[in-house]
Amino acid sequence: MRITMIGSGYVGLVSGACFSDFGHDVVCVDKDSDKIDALRAGRMPIYEPGLAQLVAANVAAGRLTFTTNLTAAVADADAIFIAVGTPSRRGDGHADLTYVFAAAHEIALAVTGPTVVVTKSTVPVGTGDEVELILRQARPDIDIAVVSNPEFLREGAAIADFKRPDRIVIGTEQAHAREVMREVYRPLYLNESPILFTGRRTSELIKYAANAFLATKITFINEIADLCEAVGADVQDVARGIGLDNRIGGKFLHAGPGYGGSCFPKDTLALLKTAQDHDSPVHIVEAVVRVNDNRKRAMGRRILHSLGDDLHGKTVALLGLTFKPNTDDMRDAPSLAIVQSLEDAGVGVRAYDPEGMAPAKALMPDVVYCRDAYEAAAGADAVAIVTEWDIFRALDLRRLAAVMIAPVMIDLRNIYRPEDVKRAGFAYSSIGR
Ligand code: NAD
Repeated sequence: MRITMIGSGYVGLVSGACFSDFGHDVVCVDKDSDKIDALRAGRMPIYEPGLAQLVAANVAAGRLTFTTNLTAAVADADAIFIAVGTPSRRGDGHADLTYVFAAAHEIALAVTGPTVVVTKSTVPVGTGDEVELILRQARPDIDIAVVSNPEFLREGAAIADFKRPDRIVIGTEQAHAREVMREVYRPLYLNESPILFTGRRTSELIKYAANAFLATKITFINEIADLCEAVGADVQDVARGIGLDNRIGGKFLHAGPGYGGSCFPKDTLALLKTAQDHDSPVHIVEAVVRVNDNRKRAMGRRILHSLGDDLHGKTVALLGLTFKPNTDDMRDAPSLAIVQSLEDAGVGVRAYDPEGMAPAKALMPDVVYCRDAYEAAAGADAVAIVTEWDIFRALDLRRLAAVMIAPVMIDLRNIYRPEDVKRAGFAYSSIGR
């Protein structure tokens, strides 16, 4: 099949590379010419484990190409995926659909025959109807089906998630479009990955409901962690104790500094907006958003508290800045709120992150960026583990303590056992233990 992917960011690039690995001919389009130049030169614009090798192999096999020329890329495609960003609109939290609609207009001008346009971007219910309207008004002469196919991959494990998904969701009312999508996903179908065919609006809502549910699970365990601290219980054991129940499941029950990243914050807000617009409020998600926002700031206060009453001249070392390990994505990372609260209090911040420092520098220019955890901790009054990169799981704690002014550790990801850290001479606090 000939597949065109419009938008070559996290989702477009990973999806395009994986589709080409299935044997399809894929053109990835992006309007960012630096990104396309980098990809053509074999450089990845994002950090994602395994992606560079996957791209290189499929480029070499002649199945994967990159271009800024949407018109040429769209012309003969069997399926055209829209995988552009849908950030939060300033002011009201609604998903900003500017890029999606712009892509639809560009597709309309470029198609030459019947095709299927697939929205992979996360979009509010009814967006498919609007995309269809744009295409139909511009090209009444051509039969173009519009399908919803939300993406559920996780950054850091994106390729494995794409190739072995828990499910594929396809929303369309048209039999022909269903057949095209079945063909697109045939290799996964043969692997017995469940494919859920449903209506387009239902498919659009599934994506938001899934993310809101996961955000709720995280926020739930975070509040239970606070309760654990108040009553002297251990949230790790509570999470295990409830997670072993198959009806609950153990995933997304890790207490921490609050969810962040490129999806949960914006998608929960967009769901709230959709619910308000339809006079059908989702009170649970409203609470989740509020609790999570408060939590990120509370983490900053927790770190400040560990510094004692006099903050004058104090410095904190942050280990990890990205919203989760194995990505360089800094979008809505909890570290942004934490750094802000530390800097507001006049505290200096040093930091190390294995992959996220380049994007972090643009967002937090006053942080002192270091070459490793030990350099970050040098002369610091406390060290806080913000992202659970593997490299932070086996630090030489005595060496770390030795370079600090005061050996104080705030472990926001519970990656250490309290007794081990205390034995190395640290005053140690973690989440919900
Ligand atoms: P991104 O910002 O990394 O990439 C979007 C890309 O689209 C950019 O490179 C941009 O230049 C390009 N673009 C925008 N308009 C274009 C146009 N008209 N023509 C060509 N290129 C254009 O975004 P992302 O993280 O890949 O997210 C894309 C969508 O997928 C969003 O709706 C997001 O919510 C959803 N999603 C993201 C993830 C994730 O983990 N990042 C997971 C699931 C779903």
